[in-house]
Amino acid sequence: MNLLDDLRVRPGAAPRLDHRDPGARLGADSKSDGLERLGKLVERLGVLQNRLYAEGRRSLLLVLQGMDASGKDGVIRSVFAGVNPQGCRVEAFNVPTSEDLAHDFLWRVHARCPARGEIGIFNRSHYEDVVAVRVRKLADESVWSKRYAHIVAFERLLIDEGTSVVKVFLHESKEVQRKRLQERVDDPEKRWKFRVGDLDDRAKWNEFRRAYEDAIRETSTHTAPWFVVPADHNWSRNLCVAEILVGALERLDPKVPPADPGVAGLVVP
Ligand code: ADP
Repeated sequence: MNLLDDLRVRPGAAPRLDHRDPGARLGADSKSDGLERLGKLVERLGVLQNRLYAEGRRSLLLVLQGMDASGKDGVIRSVFAGVNPQGCRVEAFNVPTSEDLAHDFLWRVHARCPARGEIGIFNRSHYEDVVAVRVRKLADESVWSKRYAHIVAFERLLIDEGTSVVKVFLHESKEVQRKRLQERVDDPEKRWKFRVGDLDDRAKWNEFRRAYEDAIRETSTHTAPWFVVPADHNWSRNLCVAEILVGALERLDPKVPPADPGVAGLVVP
């Protein structure tokens, strides 16, 4: 499908974020068409997840990355609205604890990967270890630059062992981030989400962009591709992520296990 091809970053290619419009409305002609299409995809995702769970052999991992207020929470809320929480695991990655830091950077990540039959959603991920760590100078370049290869190898391990890996970068503009952060400050229901540190990160916008450019170029592979999703419009952003996920699950084509012999046609007394 063309939409997914446009969003996917080819292995070794630069994502060229400057050439991608964060305000693009992709996947539908209008917002109402988009919401209708999203409704169908959400339903389909529910069916496919149920089969994946019943099959219990493989799993899917969605990695969500993006600048502050790019909509990671919104995607999780909308796209997974029709999914049975029993077969779904959302993991948010915060600043590492001292125990995390006493291990290699993938230690805490591996432990939170989806089990067979599950869909795992990473709200931030091991990519913080080559983005936030780099921009905030929490490790030397000699340390973080080696991590790209470790990440590629780690994701290959997951894939070889039955986990499909899909990575989404929510691409928002600096102006839309400003509006969304201001909204958080102004709305008492959203204020808890705003941290003063968000402004420090915003001041380093260009450094974050550069770090993402490099991380995406170094780690987009045939089997674990990155998708750059325009994220300035919520409905189109959600629609694109839903298309990507449904596409990945359709390719897996999970099957419910066969019934016990003699069950088909049985009349329950
Ligand atoms: P969010 O902004 O995703 O809603 P928080 O406000 O709790 O969530 O922020 C989580 C913070 O943890 C982010 O600033 C992120 O950069 C940071 N973080 C996550 N993983 C790491 C890591 N491995 N190293 C350093 N910082 C990290």
